[in-house]
Amino acid sequence: MHLKLPKSVTIAEVGPRDGLQNEGIEISTAQKVNLVNCLSQTGLTRIEVTSFTHPSWIPQLKDAEQVMNQIQRKEGVVYSALVPNKKGYERAMACQVDEVVFLLSASETHNLRNVNRTVSESLSELKETSLNIPKDMVRIRGVIAMAFECPFEGKISVDRVIDIGKELKRIGAYEIALADTAGLADPARVFEVFSMVTHELSGICLAGHFHNTYGFGMANVFASLQCGVSVFDGSIGGLGGCPYIPEASGNIATEDIVYMMETMGIETGIELNSLLECGKLTEGLVQKPLTSYLSKQKRIK
Ligand code: MG
Repeated sequence: MHLKLPKSVTIAEVGPRDGLQNEGIEISTAQKVNLVNCLSQTGLTRIEVTSFTHPSWIPQLKDAEQVMNQIQRKEGVVYSALVPNKKGYERAMACQVDEVVFLLSASETHNLRNVNRTVSESLSELKETSLNIPKDMVRIRGVIAMAFECPFEGKISVDRVIDIGKELKRIGAYEIALADTAGLADPARVFEVFSMVTHELSGICLAGHFHNTYGFGMANVFASLQCGVSVFDGSIGGLGGCPYIPEASGNIATEDIVYMMETMGIETGIELNSLLECGKLTEGLVQKPLTSYLSKQKRIK
């Protein structure tokens, strides 16, 4: 018997957006720019920089334009931003983002709480936004939040995830990330969902976005590897949290994914020591200990 492992994986860094938006402490524009610049030097090829949502929704990311315009772009790195609607898209385009991220939830209740729209209203809005996007210049990445389980609705039907995935593909997404937004999914469930979605959504890249609420994050990465998934979201230092589960730890840490992959002989193209430097920088920004396993090991040494 053999494990099903790829030769290499791609890691998409989401800390500056998904991580910081859940942090209570205010981070200055210069600090955010510094963090993105530091991450650009690690070998990461994808960084989600910010979100062009209305500043009153996410005050932490109100300086999206300034951050996007002030970062030093490194050749070969794709700089993306979350775009919720046409207005956000126009703001993002004025800053020349390389990739726009369309996020909606598979859970009706979560989508209503998150963006005050039904799932179908969100899809219409994203579809309308996509009509303006020059496909040869800007990539669209779809993210389906609560793709496995939801704190309000329980288990999410895989058919629903597949239907939303098909819509995102029709809109023009080249890749779709299935997100365990609240960290409730276990590895068996992740394997089941990814197996079915991979089967139904051919011709599109699938990515995994996991949280560590119950410590299942890395096991979920491994379960999705077994389904052929080779793109994973990570957040530097494990930055972030979950607005629906107070005190829950956040996204799985980029350095933990890199370390696990490299020890298994899977290439990431990322230099671990540079990443740990970014971790130290992050710890200074949020002024609290990081939650990544690797940073804790470093502290013991
Ligand atoms: Mg997340």
